[in-house]
Amino acid sequence: MADHTASRYGTALAVGVPSGSTTFANRWARAVTGTSYIPMSRTELTEFLGRLTERLAAALVAEPFDVRPGARVGADLVAAHICAPEGLGRSVEVVALRLLRDLGMETADAETRLARLVGAMATGFAHALRDRTLDEQEQMRRAALSARDQAEQGLRESEARFRHQAGHDPLTGLPNRTSFHERLTDVIRDPGTGTERIGVCFLDLDRFKVVNDSLGHRVGDQLLVSVARRLRHSLGGHLVARLGGDKFGILVERTGSTDDVVEVAEAAIATVGRPALVDGQELTVSASVGIVEVPVVDAASGELMRAADSTVHWAKLAGGARWSLFDPERNRLELARHALSAALPGALDREEFFLDYQPLTSLRDGTVLGVEALVRWRHPELGLLGPDSFIGLAEETGLIVRLGAWVLAEACRQAREWPEPAPFVSVNLAVRQLHTPDLVHQVRDLLERTGLPPHRLQLEITESTMMTTAAEPARALRTLADLGVRIAIDDFGTGYCNLAYLRDLPVTELKVAGSFVTGLRSPGDGRAGRTNERILTSLVALAHDLDLTVTAEGVETADQAERLREIGCDAGQGWHFGRPGPPERLLARLP
Ligand code: C2E
Ligand code: CA
Ligand code: CA
Repeated sequence: MADHTASRYGTALAVGVPSGSTTFANRWARAVTGTSYIPMSRTELTEFLGRLTERLAAALVAEPFDVRPGARVGADLVAAHICAPEGLGRSVEVVALRLLRDLGMETADAETRLARLVGAMATGFAHALRDRTLDEQEQMRRAALSARDQAEQGLRESEARFRHQAGHDPLTGLPNRTSFHERLTDVIRDPGTGTERIGVCFLDLDRFKVVNDSLGHRVGDQLLVSVARRLRHSLGGHLVARLGGDKFGILVERTGSTDDVVEVAEAAIATVGRPALVDGQELTVSASVGIVEVPVVDAASGELMRAADSTVHWAKLAGGARWSLFDPERNRLELARHALSAALPGALDREEFFLDYQPLTSLRDGTVLGVEALVRWRHPELGLLGPDSFIGLAEETGLIVRLGAWVLAEACRQAREWPEPAPFVSVNLAVRQLHTPDLVHQVRDLLERTGLPPHRLQLEITESTMMTTAAEPARALRTLADLGVRIAIDDFGTGYCNLAYLRDLPVTELKVAGSFVTGLRSPGDGRAGRTNERILTSLVALAHDLDLTVTAEGVETADQAERLREIGCDAGQGWHFGRPGPPERLLARLP
């Protein structure tokens, strides 16, 4: 219907707003709708296409004729997002077939002009589309570049942050152990002119755990921060690092001698020792420092760190608040001790231990009353080792419980085989063994299995063991004594000499320490000798009053044996009566 209305006005409207343009614009809008996403409402689209229609209409009649408006219409279609190939196709179709008719301009001249305008429109469309694509590609390229730049920048920043974090302690801001180790390695690898010796100090706060436990971790942390700050200030020239926990490292890169490093250590101890205001309260801590100072050519960073670590322990062992200087000989001994203690369990499995026996001889008639079992270690590389070189280690590691159980079993097993009347066998019992809950069961079981009469077993316990003995071990000893097992106090007179335990415990015998016997060697000379003899006399009298027998240890001469007999000692043990030896040697001496 609209078509007829429009055609009626015909060519009358050659200029101005052609009357059929709205009809045509509607038709055009219908044709392109759906060909691509067009960000306009239908009304907006129709209005937009109406304006293009008017421009085409104007071009159809313009003098002189110009195709460029056609090209611009094509470009504007693209700009308005009517940019899909179908959008162009339908536009060309609708313009070519309907424009002249809707506008009432169907003349041959207009048809020719329209054909050229449509061609220009398609070209303009194609150019605009290409430009837009290039633009978009360029934009994408730019966006990609800038994104990459940002990413790289971010990466660089986080790398730097990460490197700083990896090399620094977050709490105090000091370089950490890794940094310290790296710097030390660098200096050793490339010492630079004038650097012939270097020093390392490890500083460890004394009893820092107490601060943490009693005042809380927050205060502990603040104290660490304060210590770090003070160290950095007063040792400014040297690298100060937090190695972890309450341990700090100081690298002294150019030292003339050990004294230079000692000076640094003393400055560090002094600065840490100054009272610090933490969380409103005044806190004072002390520090121990381990010092290693060596020629650079001999240095290896890992070794230096380990050496400084051991040395700070020595300073602590010596009471803290002081420095210690690394001592290679002491370190060697400690390492050897460590190796030995590590080898103990295997040695027990391989049965590298054996027992020697030493007689306890009656001072009255010379009979062998008992024998003490003394353990030895046949070490595959180090040869024969006496108990003094490994019992301490076994006590520290706890292996003494297994080793002691083996000694006990071996002694009972061997003693059972000696012909009657046989001496009792005296076995040393370590503190830890006394604290094992099944000691009573273990001994009872052993006596049953070997058939050794209880009175032929004696357990030697040192005085110091008695002092630390709680209720439970005391009960165990009483049960054992009730079974008939003998209980001896070993090394009597060297411990605390608190005799109260003699009242509470079922003791059979006192073994008086060899030091009292040594004092008898030159009886005539001086007050000390006489005092020694009086103490011994009183001890014997006291023991006898309590119904205990007395055995003197370390009897080396006939003179000593004679005096001990005069004093009233019951028995003697020592080289004078026989050195420790294999059971065969002992058997030869029995009647
Ligand atoms: P102890 O219980 O005081 O043993 C006596 C030590 O004195 C033995 O040393 C013995 O060889 C030594 N001795 C004996 N007569 C003389 C002498 O006339 N003069 C001198 N100067 N010394 C003499 P050994 O065998 O080296 O044992 C040392 C320590 O090792 C023992 O001291 C004992 O405390 C401990 N021990 C030995 N065997 C064992 C064991 O099986 N278990 C435990 N827990 N400790 C043991
Ligand atoms: Ca002993
Ligand atoms: Ca002893």
